[in-house]
Amino acid sequence: MISYVQRYIDLGFVIHPCCPAEHYCQSPGKIPYDPYHGRHMSGWQTHGQFSLEQWQEWIDLDSSINIGFLCGAPSDLLCLDIDEDEGMKVLEKFDIPWRDTWQYRTGRGLRVLFRHRGSGPTGLLTADNHSVEVLGDGRQSILPPSVHPNGSSYEWVMGNSPKDCGLSSETGWADRIGGQNGELDDLSLEDTDWRAVLDRPPAPGARNETLVKVAGHLLAPGGMAPKEAEFWLSLYNSHCLPEPIGGRELSAILRSVAKMEQRTRDTGEREIRRIMAEYGVKWDDAKTMWEGMQ
Ligand SMILES: [Zn+2]
Repeated sequence: MISYVQRYIDLGFVIHPCCPAEHYCQSPGKIPYDPYHGRHMSGWQTHGQFSLEQWQEWIDLDSSINIGFLCGAPSDLLCLDIDEDEGMKVLEKFDIPWRDTWQYRTGRGLRVLFRHRGSGPTGLLTADNHSVEVLGDGRQSILPPSVHPNGSSYEWVMGNSPKDCGLSSETGWADRIGGQNGELDDLSLEDTDWRAVLDRPPAPGARNETLVKVAGHLLAPGGMAPKEAEFWLSLYNSHCLPEPIGGRELSAILRSVAKMEQRTRDTGEREIRRIMAEYGVKWDDAKTMWEGMQ
């Protein structure tokens, strides 16, 4: 374990412990974890590199911890999260050179890494009926040889480990990530000129990206229920786009965006529960504290 830690630090991954695969929580094995106190780590998004001595102490305390790393700017890495075979079609569609870079298997899918210096977007790449999530700034991901809650281990793909090949820095595709944090913020601003958005329909090539952004706005926290969002999104699709996309494709976009929003919400709920346990306060007070930290 400590040799993996050393190797990851040498390779430039900014890493942290994650809870053990058998941890009693909503996402066992996957949440940044503080082995000294036996609880999830707070404020992990901005941690620096921990020393090897620190890691040795943690491993001595709890040898079942997993290893996670900060995606995006801290590690200068973008991580593609591919859960299904269909994700491969998305990679092909965007011409992503995924065969020539680092890859590892998770409990149920594949992670593909790219060098991306500086700020790295988080969001979705969507093509046809499928999406691939890009983990960048503000996100973390689990590294081999961590253990997945289903009992399997994360492992580097033979021929695509840091020992076997280089890390590709071909990230031209990153410009086409939809539902990106920054752009969602733009669309979420109260003073968004919606009239102008409606008057300037996207080019057919940018339809999916635009629909992902609009769906992200409709489903954002404080937004509407999925059924209602589907109604308004299909209205936007059929009335505002010169060449609307098909109904199935539209549903797929909504599902992907809803999944991403749900993950964001789950993180919030998990943190609120952690605060309740840690400070012995009720839900409302913990929620206020959590919002204050954002
Ligand atoms: Zn946990």
